[in-house]
Amino acid sequence: MTATGLSQVTIRLTAIALAAFICLSCAREPPEIRYRFTAMGTLVEVTIYDFPTAAAEKAARDVETLFLKLQDAWDPWADGALAKLNSALAAGDEARPDEDLADLLSRASQISAATGGAFDPAVGQLVKLWGFHDAEALPDAPPPATRIQQVLDAGKPLPQIWDGERGILAGASGTAIDLGAFAKGEAVDRAIMLLRSAGVRDAIVNAGGDLRAIGRHGARPWKIGIREPRKTGILASIEVSGDESVFTSGDYERYFEYKGTRYHHILDPRTGYPTREIVSVTIIGSSAAESDAACTALMVAGLGHWPAVARALGIREVMVVDQDGIIQMSPQMRDRVTMLREEAPAVEIRDIS
Ligand code: AMP
Ligand code: MG
Repeated sequence: MTATGLSQVTIRLTAIALAAFICLSCAREPPEIRYRFTAMGTLVEVTIYDFPTAAAEKAARDVETLFLKLQDAWDPWADGALAKLNSALAAGDEARPDEDLADLLSRASQISAATGGAFDPAVGQLVKLWGFHDAEALPDAPPPATRIQQVLDAGKPLPQIWDGERGILAGASGTAIDLGAFAKGEAVDRAIMLLRSAGVRDAIVNAGGDLRAIGRHGARPWKIGIREPRKTGILASIEVSGDESVFTSGDYERYFEYKGTRYHHILDPRTGYPTREIVSVTIIGSSAAESDAACTALMVAGLGHWPAVARALGIREVMVVDQDGIIQMSPQMRDRVTMLREEAPAVEIRDIS
């Protein structure tokens, strides 16, 4: 055999060996399914790793059914359980929510009190006045200041009207409940519960960038990207394994601009206006519902108070981006994130405890 012939055989043998190696690693690679649907005004993605494909797809479809059911029950203005409650409130009647909603209101009321009212699901009338309740359309101008003041004067905070002992909401005609800052997280928690009861151990339920991850992606942890709030691209990544939630609230999610000012969907219940100072807040927490509420509360708390509110909620991993792109974070968050901006961002470390 000539030297050329020999090297051709060697190449062929190497190619076969390589193909066999690739096929072997293919065969060993556990399946991963990704299932997407739209619910609660956002794209939800369920990722299930290392679970029989047909059973994983069934579990993911069950998660979709669950989300759609909760979306109807917790819409403040359609005709589900929460909307009925809001009708009773508007009529000035006492309202007794079903067990499910009562549990949600109890927890929301406690979080509201712990945040000094920064998180307050009783902002329903305010959200409606601004026009942020309509998933199909955005407002084009802010409401008149006099109307905002009237709505503030007529409304009551949730802890004042929720009587957890009796499971009753006191009649409060100027008040409506909007669970928009909490319900998505609760739905994610319930979806994880559903997946676990189906036997799934490694999964992510991601609702528009807000997620809870359980288990791992095989040999490595799950890797989560945090988006840049003011441009496209990824600001940072976080590795999670075990069971953790990563949630972000930002002023870029639903907003309009009017005469050069940005007005967005997170409202300060004390002023009646969208929050300022903070552009986005990302936290790592355990339950998705509490993480969801916490992000919204920290947006309202602002640059001066976010560490105190995080402390009150027992949250230790927080990253905040301000209007100038400067980042503030807790030491615990610094130990968890990898910054991915090309230029190293200005970072200020702030203690929570
Ligand atoms: P999130 O994106 O989780 O921060 O939730 C924002 C949504 O929560 C808004 O679209 C409103 O429906 C509602 N919301 C706005 N401001 C507040 C607030 N201060 N407390 C509780 N819910 C709020
Ligand atoms: Mg929230």
